[in-house]
Amino acid sequence: MPRPLIATIHPEHIAHNLSVIRAHNPHANIWAIAKANAYGHGIERVYNGLHSADGIAVLQIDEAQRVRALGWRKPILMIEGAFELRDLEDYSRLRCWHVVHSHEQIDMLAAHKTTQPHHVFLKLNSGMNRLGFPPAQYASAYARLMALPQVEEVSHMTHFACADAPPAQDATATVAQQLTCFTETTSALGGALSLSNSAAALRHQLSEGNAQNAQSSDFTGEWLRAGIAIYGCSPDYPVHSAADWGLKPAMSLNSQIIATQQIHTGDSVGYGASFTADKAMRIGIVACGYADGYPRHAPTGTPVLVNGQRSHTVGRVSMDMLAINLSHLPEATSGSTVTLWGAAADGTPLSADEVAQHANTISYELLCALAQRVVTVTH
Ligand SMILES: *Cc1c(COP(=O)(O)O)cnc(C)c1O
Repeated sequence: MPRPLIATIHPEHIAHNLSVIRAHNPHANIWAIAKANAYGHGIERVYNGLHSADGIAVLQIDEAQRVRALGWRKPILMIEGAFELRDLEDYSRLRCWHVVHSHEQIDMLAAHKTTQPHHVFLKLNSGMNRLGFPPAQYASAYARLMALPQVEEVSHMTHFACADAPPAQDATATVAQQLTCFTETTSALGGALSLSNSAAALRHQLSEGNAQNAQSSDFTGEWLRAGIAIYGCSPDYPVHSAADWGLKPAMSLNSQIIATQQIHTGDSVGYGASFTADKAMRIGIVACGYADGYPRHAPTGTPVLVNGQRSHTVGRVSMDMLAINLSHLPEATSGSTVTLWGAAADGTPLSADEVAQHANTISYELLCALAQRVVTVTH
């Protein structure tokens, strides 16, 4: 029998999650973000769930190539734009729209020989201080782009630092500040906008009011950028869970118990003997470890499901295995199914958000880290 660890991808859940985002933002266009190989799910595996998106946004040329090879005719956005001049040749060939966040990227466009008209998303640094032109340089960057024969259309883009912040935190104020900065800088210019990530799309609905009101009459709609939510995790966990938002997990990671151990008071489990039993326990060994993408930093107590019933990890995660508590689950034995995240066969959910929180990280990292060696199937 092959190793029982299997990741199951649910494209129909992605289609559902897109419809949830659409219901919150009926007037927006949606970029489905498929960078990092569709957040670890596999571009080809999720593709059938993406048909209702208005565009697909990726980071790397090979991803754009794969999206076109699958038959995608709608827009593709390169969300960091060109890294070198040659990238623009691929963009022209694959008809990719692309972000421009730096003077160097405008120089590349100016040097690019093409007859293919380019649609550019000009990025404003409205306060996150990662990518984009500062407000004072934005209008001149815009004018420079508009003057290039290579450029057909320029849209305006920025990225929120704190769209997922708990409501009571000062950080939510930065959403308003960034929005004000964005509207003040771009409203006189006209064109389409792209501001919201998943958290903003579900919590702030800029396309349904805020941004629109503040924009000039040339406002031609928002292209929101939905990543984590289309994969069924909550963008603002633990303020809201995926279930609160009505999102369904697009990835379930399931394995089996491959051995059990009966241990006594004082016995320890795993590397470093970091866990010592204070009573007799039954332990199950699960075929999943950090070489599969399970977080090694997940401490004792990280939740798992055994045949749909909750239990938790015990001791350190090894490369190929981890240990769980079976003391309260007498029926669980070798061959029993263990859900690491997603949903059990009976539908019981265990969100990657919850597992990630225990491991001091976010669901994004768990999904993206799914290892190549994990057998993946499409439901
Ligand atoms: C990855 C990415 C997103 C998606 O963010 P989520 O929180 O996953 O929705 C949006 N915008 C940009 C620029 C990104 O790089």
